[in-house]
Order: sequence, then structure tokens, then C-alpha cells
Amino acid sequence: MKNVRVRFAPSPTGALHIGGVRTALYNFLLARQHGGTMILRIEDTDQNRFVPGAEEYILESLKWAGIEIDEGVGKGGPHAPYRQSERKPIYQKYAQQLIDQGKAYYAFDTEEELEAMRERLKSQHSSDQQYGSGTRMQMKNSLTLSESDVKSKIDSGEHYVIRLKVPPNEEIKLTDLIRGEVHVNSSQIDDKVLMKSDGMPTYHLANVVDDYLMKISHVIRGEEWLPSAPLHILLYKFLGWEKERPHFAHLPLLLKADGNGKLSKRDADKAGFPIFPLNWADPKTKEFSKGFRENGYLPEALLNFLAFLGWNPGTEQEIFSMKELIQVFSLDRISKHGARFDIHKAQWYNQQYLKKRSNEELTVFLYNSLKPENVICEAEKASKICEVLQERVTFPQDFWQQGKFFFIAPTSFDHQVISKKWNAETVKFLKTFVDCLNSTESTKVSEIKALLEKTSQATEIALGKIMQPLRVALTGESSGPDLMMTIEILGQKETISRITYALANFPVKI
Ligand code: GLU
Repeated sequence: MKNVRVRFAPSPTGALHIGGVRTALYNFLLARQHGGTMILRIEDTDQNRFVPGAEEYILESLKWAGIEIDEGVGKGGPHAPYRQSERKPIYQKYAQQLIDQGKAYYAFDTEEELEAMRERLKSQHSSDQQYGSGTRMQMKNSLTLSESDVKSKIDSGEHYVIRLKVPPNEEIKLTDLIRGEVHVNSSQIDDKVLMKSDGMPTYHLANVVDDYLMKISHVIRGEEWLPSAPLHILLYKFLGWEKERPHFAHLPLLLKADGNGKLSKRDADKAGFPIFPLNWADPKTKEFSKGFRENGYLPEALLNFLAFLGWNPGTEQEIFSMKELIQVFSLDRISKHGARFDIHKAQWYNQQYLKKRSNEELTVFLYNSLKPENVICEAEKASKICEVLQERVTFPQDFWQQGKFFFIAPTSFDHQVISKKWNAETVKFLKTFVDCLNSTESTKVSEIKALLEKTSQATEIALGKIMQPLRVALTGESSGPDLMMTIEILGQKETISRITYALANFPVKI
């Protein structure tokens, strides 16, 4: 593929949905695979839906995720500006071109008149209730008014919009790279507004004009835009740009985990998982949503998870670095069917990627999780804790949850183990073990092992019987990381003190 130029074109209408991050990722992968260009265009022509802070949020999200922009907002480039609200004259020029060629027209209908049209058509049980080839000649527009009337209305500042004059009964065909051939009869498309009365273009005009001017080779976007694609095809034709038309690829929807319906923020809130990449405080509703980042997801894990939502490599391999994804990604392996969003899979990815992090990196996570608890930990101990917990954590903040007992002696103990396994033998074993510990200097794993075996021989109690009660005495829990390492990390004094405390708490007559 030559000159791959793709764009991510979000509207700053709120936080970036996780589906938007997937769209950006797929665009980015295609660009990188072909040595192409990834463009960020901000589609902010709908002033009513503009949300302050949303654009900054989009930029920060992409940056955090590692989706690099080559050209666009925040970066600049040969087609600047990349914010549509700053490109008004460009759209005006093309709208004018369409008017001059009789492919678009001015319309002066008020809201009330439009409503009256719909009511009239409804009462006539007309199958065609839209502003289009069947109705436009009954409305107030430059097709029905005289040229001088039109001119005087415009000159006097009357509000107007510019509508596309969609021809009736024409077959519009497009080949979507994911969905294959899509056919639509033009009579199904209404005379879409191209320019609004505030002088701003609508999404459709701005999107097509910019994709053309920015030399976009592939439009990769969510399935919700598929219904707009035939209109866009018509616009390319009317503007004389059919040859330069980009390829289209409409990505499958993200579905709830059970496959029943579209994934929504409400579902995510209900199930308690994030749907936005970063924390977001909605400036209008004041509602606060915690992001993937703040929930402890690693960007590389999230991207790997998102890559598989609607795409697969055709092999069993599930872990792909960004570099590998760039190599193997292909549009023709994207599915037509909706992709189930299973947060457990995202957690699994996070766990896998956390395991791959170096001990130094994990130590930073551990220290971060200790900070709010005001817990101090020396470097060697921190490093060892990370080593034993590495296989057990899903999120960086789990280091505290799962490793708390390294810092705070337990005060409650697993009931089941105590009632079933804490008996005279346990007490005998642990007392002897404490004596052995008292007579040693080192609590290195090898030394502990030897001491346990020595205790086992001396008391004639099998080690297998003792491991769980010993763990409970030291940690309060029935399961946890490697016990020898746990003892090594706790150290001689602390181990003795915890066992002594448990023995005092659960006395058994021997
Ligand atoms: N501005 C549209 C959105 O917010 C972009 C659609 C497109 O990529 O064409 O999703």
C-alpha cells in the first residue's frame, strides 16, 4: 500500500470512549505498518455539543496509550489547521461550489415550517416524510423561490441552511473493506444540511472536504458511521473527487460481555469497570468517572486487549507488543460482527503485562501503593516483595492489598484453617520451630527450609500438616505467596513474634 494517510477524527463532546481508543489504535497500526501518516483532526463543528476540556482529554489519552500522532492538532502539519472550527472558509467555498453547480441549494424553512411539513406528510400517510426529492418543491428554498427573493432574504440576514440536492432513485454503491459491498438507493437519503445557519458546516460536509484535502487514503471508523457513508460517496461524486475517494472500513460495534446489545457507560458503571481511558469529570453534569489508567491498567495491556476487540491474528498467540501488532495487523482480519467487551480479559492482559515488568519497575508500583498508607520500606525488602507478588497481582495497587501483611502483623486469622488444622501437633511443631529460629542468625530461604525439616524430624510431624497453620500464623490468610520467601522477607524477629502471638491466641493443650 502506498501513501497510507489515516486520521482519527473525534468530536470534543465529552470523554473519549474506549471504543474511540480502539479506532485510533487501528488507524495507527495501519499507518505504522505502511510507513504512513497518522493524523488527528478535531471535528468540533457542532458548537452545541462542545465540551470544554474534551480536546485536551483526547490528546492526553492518546499520549498515555502510546498512539503517536504525526500530523494534526497538537502537532501541526502541511494541512493545518486541523481543528474544523478553524476551517470555516474552506467549507464555505465548497458549499458555494455545490450551489453554483446546482447540486445544493439554500433553504429558509423555519423549525415550525419543517415540523408542519412532517405533520402534513404523516397525516397523508406518506412513506416519504423527509426533506428530499419528493418534498423539496413544496418548501421555502432557492429551488422554489425566485432568484431575487433568495438574494433579498440572504442580504437581509435571514437565517438559512445549505442542503444537498440528493437525486432520486440512484443506486449508490460502496465497497467497505470490512463489510464488502453496500448498496443504497439515493431516495432513502434526505437532502442533508451541509451548512448550518450559524455558518458552520455539518459533520458530513466538513468530514468529506477534510478527508479529501488531507489526502486521506483510508477512513477507518466506527460502525455507527456506516449509514452516513452513502451520503459521503455522493458528496465525493458531486465535488468531483471520485478518483481521490478514500477506502472505507467500518469497525464492528463493542458489545456487552454477554453479546446482548451495545456496550454503554451505564453497563460499565453498573458492573464497576471503566469505559474511559483516563479519569473524567464531566463539566456539565459534574459526574466523575474513573479511567483505565487510574484503575491501574497498563497502556500496553489495554492496547493489546483493544487490538483483539474485533480483530484477531488467525493464530493462538494473544500477547502482542505494539511492534508485533504493527507487523501482523490487517484490515481483512477485522470481523463484521460486534466484539464482546469482557473486562476479565482486560484484567488478564494487565496481569500478563505486569508480570513482564522488571523488578525495578514493580518496585516503583509498590512504593506508590505504600505512599497513601504512610508505610516505609527499605529497598531490598521492596524488591523481594515484588518478586514474590509478581505472579499474583493484576494491578499495581494490588501490591498493597496482597502484601499488606509484610508490614502489618495480622490480628485476624483464617477461621477454617484454625478450626480444622490448628491442633496439638501444630503447637508442638511451632514451639520447636521458634526455638530453632532463636538459635539462628539467618532467615535465608535455604536456611528456613533446613530448619523446618529439622523441626519436622525432631517432632516427628510431617511438614505437609504444618504449612497452612504456619501461613495463617504469619499472614492471617490461608493462601498467599511462597512461604519460605515470606519468612525470609519478614525476617527472624518478626517471624518469631508472629508465631508467638498466634500460639498465645490459640492455645491447645498438649
Ligand atoms: N467526528 C466523528 C466522531 O466523533 C468522526 C467520524 C469519522 O471518523 O468519520 O466519531
